Amino acid sequence: MNFSDTIVALATPAGVGAIGVIRLSGDRAIEIVNKVFQPKDLSIQASHTIHYGRIESSGRVYDEVVASLYIAPRSYTKENVVEISCHGSPFIQESILQLFVEQGARFARPGEFTQRAFLNGAFDLAQAEAVADVIAADSAAAQNAALHQLRGGFSKELAALREELIHFASLIELELDFGEEDVEFADRQDLEDLVNQLLANIRPLVASFRTGNAVKNGVATVIVGKPNAGKSTLLNALLNEDRAIVSDIAGTTRDSLEDEWTLGGIKFRLVDTAGLRETTDVIEALGVERTQAWVKKAQVVIYMADATSETPVGFAAGVEALGQLDIPVIKLLNKVDQISSTELAAFEDAIPISAKNRSGLNDLETALLNVVGLDQVSTSGTLVTNLRHYQQLLQTQETLEGVLVALKTGLTGDLIAQDLRYALHHLGEITGQISNDDLLKNIFGKFCIGK
Ligand code: GDP
Repeated sequence: MNFSDTIVALATPAGVGAIGVIRLSGDRAIEIVNKVFQPKDLSIQASHTIHYGRIESSGRVYDEVVASLYIAPRSYTKENVVEISCHGSPFIQESILQLFVEQGARFARPGEFTQRAFLNGAFDLAQAEAVADVIAADSAAAQNAALHQLRGGFSKELAALREELIHFASLIELELDFGEEDVEFADRQDLEDLVNQLLANIRPLVASFRTGNAVKNGVATVIVGKPNAGKSTLLNALLNEDRAIVSDIAGTTRDSLEDEWTLGGIKFRLVDTAGLRETTDVIEALGVERTQAWVKKAQVVIYMADATSETPVGFAAGVEALGQLDIPVIKLLNKVDQISSTELAAFEDAIPISAKNRSGLNDLETALLNVVGLDQVSTSGTLVTNLRHYQQLLQTQETLEGVLVALKTGLTGDLIAQDLRYALHHLGEITGQISNDDLLKNIFGKFCIGK
């Protein structure tokens, strides 16, 4: 694809820095820079070379810079690209950007460099989205998952299987053209084998999203329990700081506090809530309401009880109430330093801890990692972290399962053909073989300018 205009943007964050990088991409990128670059002639230099010089125009020296040249198609966008490293003053950066625009470049829209790279075939849509994820990654696991996807992840395999499926779909469409004649070009057994192979690829991807989402966005973890159960003490123990107010007066944690905590490379967003109980205090009531709202948004709930004041029956009832929300609940019994082992035994499957003495915390950590399925992260299998991919994969899976049923029950070719078309569509949308302007706008619009 050929874009007529040359785009320019600041590729480093706005503001003061040691250096700033201005990037241009397009047919005229080298020519535009060359008009204001001294003393070398950049138009005769080789690709992948860097050149020290001055940006100069109408007798004004803008800055001393280093220009890096990438000649099409050997660049990120597959177009001519020049990157100017200048001094990191916002004034200098602004002036040079303006100068390039005066020389014929146009300010880039958010994500436009990556969009061009995609449209020029440098990578598929899922990989383009991974670029944004790599930049946004804020934990080791998130970075790994994004890099894996950037290198191709599941795209290549799916694209190859999609090609085979297209072949079958066209054979079946051909049968339909013959109408009454009862011919079968598409071998039903081969088709069934292929669909099974596709499903074998897709099912684990769909299942990986729970972990993938946790890796990318962190796990919303809400700690609930009656006032004085020791929630704030636990939070402080996990975070190693005095973040929440710890006190003996029931109901002192009036509002919810959110903290980030990284465990096994995964980010947990821990929320300490006000006690779950009836209250007449207005401020505290606000906290209770928020607790309920938080629990609804949580991916895992830590239910904590005070061993010195809770009975096993009361504890079970609390867990039971939360269980109805269909969110994994980790059952914690706190202050076990104050009770005997016989008393503890009555609580059966609760994890015993003492938040104050920091004992039992390892068991809690193991339980948390199990909830997000750490086994999948550590084996570095492919993780689907993107909601859009997940939704398309899920639709593909459901449609292909429909195809299997259709094949088994001997449904007519036109019904199978329709399902195959749907499946091809969903698969194609993941990698961008099928795309439309709205989808691209939506995806690249979320990128920053200069990327
Ligand atoms: P919250 O209302 O659930 O946030 O409870 P806090 O964290 O404020 O704790 C209430 C009281 O219980 C404080 O006096 C804590 O020091 C005490 N406490 C917390 N954890 C333990 C524990 O493991 N053992 C004992 N003995 N006391 C604890």
